[in-house]
Amino acid sequence: MSGLSDSFQRPINYLRISVTDRCNLRCIYCMPVEGIRLIPHGDILTYEEILTVAKAAGELGINKIRITGGEPLARSGLLKLIQMLAQIDAIDDISLTTNGVLLSHYAAELKSAGLQRINISLDTLKQDKFEFITRSKDSLGNVLEGIEAARSVGLNPVKINVVVMSGINDDELLDFAAKTINNEWHVRFIELMPSAGASTIASQFVPVSEMRKRLELLGKLEACLPSVGNGPAKYFRFPHASGTIGFITPVSEHFCFHCNRLRLTADGKLRPCLLADYEIDLKSPLRNGISSDGLKQLIEEAVANKPLRHRMAEGYTPKDRPMTQVGG
Ligand code: SAM
Repeated sequence: MSGLSDSFQRPINYLRISVTDRCNLRCIYCMPVEGIRLIPHGDILTYEEILTVAKAAGELGINKIRITGGEPLARSGLLKLIQMLAQIDAIDDISLTTNGVLLSHYAAELKSAGLQRINISLDTLKQDKFEFITRSKDSLGNVLEGIEAARSVGLNPVKINVVVMSGINDDELLDFAAKTINNEWHVRFIELMPSAGASTIASQFVPVSEMRKRLELLGKLEACLPSVGNGPAKYFRFPHASGTIGFITPVSEHFCFHCNRLRLTADGKLRPCLLADYEIDLKSPLRNGISSDGLKQLIEEAVANKPLRHRMAEGYTPKDRPMTQVGG
């Protein structure tokens, strides 16, 4: 098989790059209440270092990159990074995950820099709940403007990620679903995962099977075939709806056997699994002048150590980094 593949013969072609551990929101399921110990600026990979990793990864077979964080739009100069990544021949898909608060300012420039697609995290359509979930006074209105801006500049399909939590936002499942009927939203409901230091608790978990049951009160969900998107979400739509509904089941039905991802943290650690603590340091070798071949060997080592599956069902969750420091 050409390209990168792990010891279980899974092709690995997708790199998620966290460009910062800073975030302008403090979501209860992602950020510990006391905040995080911020990585000193000098320990965060520069854009040139990220580019060096992306080029080496591209030569090995990575062709998709997603920029994440922390909040990626909170790091200055992000447009420059996207422009540089877009010039790597091997990379043919560049996307971004954002909380959307700053998006309306940047949507047009992101598009012209070479960004193709965008995912926006939004867990509620109500301002008071938005403040509760994000522990922030920021405005839901800014995120909604960001969604419209992304759509109008053609960052399509704009996908809205909703982490569903019992007793917090599960009463809004139908409101989000209604947006797929009239407004051409592509909404993805995500099962709540345990995350180091998060304030959410196991009893707030809602399995996708339960979400589906409640959504079918609105009508029958028809599977979208061939599947929209090529990630772990399974997509459906209501009859005649313009948008779609996706379900992501990291907990109730893991999709590890099809996992094609690597993750690069803002401080330069390469992690082959979101939900395992194993990582390889790339920052020190980069700063000590490692050759491109040496860098490729380290990437291959991380891939060779990619676990077959996560161990959440056995009670194991990552201890070292909250979600905000891995990139989700
Ligand atoms: N700040 C950006 C944002 O809000 O999208 C990017 C970083 S955020 C860590 C990336 C994704 O991880 C978001 O879609 C978020 O909903 C998801 N996420 C974070 N913690 C999670 C958890 N405990 N369970 C499920 N998804 C989670």
